[in-house]
Amino acid sequence: MRVVIVGAGVAGCVMARSLARLDGVEVACLERVARDDRSEAGTGLNVGPNAVKALKLTDPDLAEAVTQASFAWTSWRISLTDGTELFRLKLEEVTDNSGWRIRWSELYRVLREAAGATVHYDCAISDIGRDTSDPRKTTIAWMQDGKMRTIDKIDLLIAADGRYSGVRRAISGKPDIRHTGVAISRVLVPDTSNGLIDDYEQWFNGPKRLLAFRVPPDHIYIACAFPIAADADILPHLKTPEALRAAYTPTNAPPSAQAQWMIEQVCANVADTHWARMQEHDALYRAADCNVLYLGDAAHGMVPTLGQGATQAIEDAAVAAQLITQRHSQGRSDVASWPKDIEALREKRMRFVMEFSLAATDTMLEGADPISGTKHKTAAPFVNRLKALYNDIGLPLTSP
Ligand SMILES: Cc1cc2nc3c(=O)[nH]c(=O)nc-3n(C[C@H](O)[C@H](O)[C@H](O)COP(=O)(O)OP(=O)(O)OC[C@H]3O[C@@H](n4cnc5c(N)ncnc54)[C@H](O)[C@@H]3O)c2cc1C
Repeated sequence: MRVVIVGAGVAGCVMARSLARLDGVEVACLERVARDDRSEAGTGLNVGPNAVKALKLTDPDLAEAVTQASFAWTSWRISLTDGTELFRLKLEEVTDNSGWRIRWSELYRVLREAAGATVHYDCAISDIGRDTSDPRKTTIAWMQDGKMRTIDKIDLLIAADGRYSGVRRAISGKPDIRHTGVAISRVLVPDTSNGLIDDYEQWFNGPKRLLAFRVPPDHIYIACAFPIAADADILPHLKTPEALRAAYTPTNAPPSAQAQWMIEQVCANVADTHWARMQEHDALYRAADCNVLYLGDAAHGMVPTLGQGATQAIEDAAVAAQLITQRHSQGRSDVASWPKDIEALREKRMRFVMEFSLAATDTMLEGADPISGTKHKTAAPFVNRLKALYNDIGLPLTSP
C-alpha cells in the first residue's frame, strides 16, 4: 500500500511515524523546507491537555519526547494591565493532565526526528492530481536535488500541509477565509523578567490583549492582540513602538510590573515581531471522490484564542493514526472507507472546537468589555465547555 503525506509539520510527522510502522505500507512524507529550517523559531505554543492526552494514549514515547522539550502548562490567569486579577484557573480543576509550553521550532525538531527517514526535505511540489489508472488514487510530482520525481497510484494521500494547503486547493478547491477582526503578533525574547512571567497568562487594556508564557530553554513568548476592521490590513502605524505602548498602557493607573516589562519588550522588539490576522476556514476532512485525507490546519482553520491549532493537529493525527492502524491490523484494506470513518470521528468535535475558540475571542473584539467577558468565563457554561475541550478527545476508539 502506498501512502504519501504532504507536509512534515505537526500532523504530518505524527502520521508519518505511526504509518511507517505498519507492515506492507510504504510511506513518504514530502516537506517543502530544508531539514534545518528555523523559520518558526520566533514562536511559542501552548499545546492543550487534550493533545497531550491523545498522544500519550497513542504514542507514549513521542509524548514523552515532547514533554522533555517543554514546560508543563498548568494554569491560566487573566488580569488587566493595571494588575487587577479577573480569572485564575488551575488546569487540574478541569482536566487530569497538564498541557505543554514549547517553542514551535523545538516541537518541529522533536517531531521531525521522530518521523525519521520517512521525511524527504526540500521538496518543491509541482503537480497533484487524480491518477489516470484509477480515479480514487492520486499522483504527485516534485523537484528535489535538481531532479523531477513522481509517485503515482497513491492509495492514500494525506494533506498535512498547513493553513494554505496546496493539496486541498488542488483537489477540493480553495476554502473561504473569514477574518475575525483581530490583529495578532508574536515575538520570543530572552527571559529578563526575574520571575515575573512563567505560566500562561493574559492581560487586557480594554479589548487589547497581551499574552505571555515562559518556554524552554529560557525565553518568554509574548503575543499582542488588538481589534481591527474584519477585512482591513494591519496598517504599519499600528505596529510601531509608540502605538503598542499606548495600546497596552492603562490610562487610569500605572501598569503592573508584569505589564510594564512586557510593554518594554514588545516596543524593543518590533523588528522581530511577526504579524497575522485572526481567521477561520471551514472544516473538511476528506475529498469527495478520491482517497485524500485532510488533517490539521489543512482540514480546519480556527482562531488561536484557546491554543487549539497545533493541539487539534495532534488530536487529528492521533485519531487518524489509531483508526488506520486498527483497520490495517484487521486486514481491512478498503482505503476509501478510512477518510470517511476519520471524518465521522472528527467532524462534530471540530465544529465544537472552532465555535468555542471563536466564542472565547469575544473579549478581543472592538468595543468588548474584558471585565464582564472574563467574568462570564468563570461561570459553569464556559467551564463545562472547557472540560469538554480538554477531555473529550474521541480516544480510544471503540471496536468497529
Ligand atoms: C500566531 C500564532 C499563534 C499560534 N499559537 C498556537 C498555540 O499557542 N497553540 C496551538 O495549539 N496552536 C497555535 N497556533 C496554530 C498552530 O501553529 C497550527 O495550527 C499548527 O502548526 C498546525 O499544524 P499542521 O500540522 O496542520 O500544519 P503545520 O504545523 O503548519 O505544518 C505544515 C507543514 O507543511 C509544510 N508545507 C506547506 N506547504 C507545503 C508544500 N506545498 N509542500 C510540502 N510541504 C509543505 C510546511 O512547511 C510545514 O512543515 C498558532 C498559530 C499562529 C499563526
